[in-house]
Amino acid sequence: MSSLTPDLEAMLTRLKLTAIRDRLDSLLDELGRQDLTWREGLQYLCQAEIARKDQRRVLMAHRLARFPFSRTLDDYDYSAQPSVDPKRIRELSTGRWIGNGDVVLLLGPPGVGKTHLAVGLGRAAIVAGYSVLFTQAAELMASLLKASESGRLEDRLRQLNKPKLLIIDELGYLSLGREASHLFFQLVSRRYERGSLLLTSNRSIREWGSVFGDTVVATAILDRLLHHSHVLTIRGESYRLREKRRSGLLSGHAVAAIEKTP
Ligand code: ADP
Ligand code: MG
Repeated sequence: MSSLTPDLEAMLTRLKLTAIRDRLDSLLDELGRQDLTWREGLQYLCQAEIARKDQRRVLMAHRLARFPFSRTLDDYDYSAQPSVDPKRIRELSTGRWIGNGDVVLLLGPPGVGKTHLAVGLGRAAIVAGYSVLFTQAAELMASLLKASESGRLEDRLRQLNKPKLLIIDELGYLSLGREASHLFFQLVSRRYERGSLLLTSNRSIREWGSVFGDTVVATAILDRLLHHSHVLTIRGESYRLREKRRSGLLSGHAVAAIEKTP
């Protein structure tokens, strides 16, 4: 007979102890098998409930983060990209830098795994208990311009300030005009030392002046971004092209030609 009487079910539901409610019989069986004291038994039940709540929190936070694809740091092949130091990535995966409000810049040419690492670090941040939002730079800038035109900039900036970690992918693919650069500066200033940013870019920091059009704004942005920052520059060839070359699908000449195209 089930241990879950209607009264007990109602109480566990009201207390939102759903893991205990849904698995009561198997949890009680396990308690019996382990011959635990009352205190140990209570601890065991609490652990089961907390594990379920953590799992739900991570799932929900993933949905809110809006990652473009599902990749983890464990999927990253470090041997293919020797310029990425696994120790640095492991250290960043603890999320300590997010607690400090630091900035991470992932720089490098297309295909070397910048977005992959950004998603992986974002997922690690969620497990460490931080809220995350992933955005594409072009979409983010379009939304800031739209909000500014319709007089809702303040709301939009407040929204973008909420996640502890804001990931902005592909900054620098397109140059930003004066207005957009100014809006980006406002976003960076708001988050400065309060919330973390992770930016990926195919441009080196030296080239950022031309990304932001206006050198005064570019300097102000870089000043804030680089103050407490971890810069990872990835060198090397595109992972996919490398895989194709390895499988013999592309000749060395074909790869060189593809890599030259912008
Ligand atoms: P980038 O953002 O630098 O242009 P991506 O992160 O989009 O590159 O990587 C392109 C594809 O190659 C993705 O599917 C990614 O998972 C994969 N990839 C890139 N580098 C690696 C790597 N070192 N190990 C495993 N997969 C990789
Ligand atoms: Mg990318």
